[in-house]
Amino acid sequence: MADTIFSKIIKREIPADIVYENDSVLAFRDINPQAPVHILIIPKVEIPKVTEIEGKKHAQLLGELFDAANKLAKEMKIDKDGFRLVFNCGDNAGQEVYHLHMHLLGGRKMTWPPG
Ligand code: AMP
Repeated sequence: MADTIFSKIIKREIPADIVYENDSVLAFRDINPQAPVHILIIPKVEIPKVTEIEGKKHAQLLGELFDAANKLAKEMKIDKDGFRLVFNCGDNAGQEVYHLHMHLLGGRKMTWPPG
């Protein structure tokens, strides 16, 4: 499979504003932020999209993505007012990068439904 831009960020082949890392996840600021806080949290293993998640196999990893989101939300002081977590899956959702990522968005009032 061809490397995505996110696997290049994991391998430090291209730069990113990394805000958190552990053995299995990496988090960095979105290059085109849609809110005052806009961070992408990704697994280091390649899972192209939500439909390729297997609950039993990836349960621990998914837990770590959410742990990272909560930790970062606290650090960025958006945990009290609230924030949004988004996974875009496929064309209709506007997924651009086919390496699983969770968007952590906060720091402003959000609207619903999303566009
Ligand atoms: P999605 O539409 O859910 O696939 O989101 C992909 C996100 O990746 C978009 O919000 C882009 O702004 C962001 N993005 C693309 N390239 C980079 C990059 N090199 N560094 C940080 N964020 C990026």
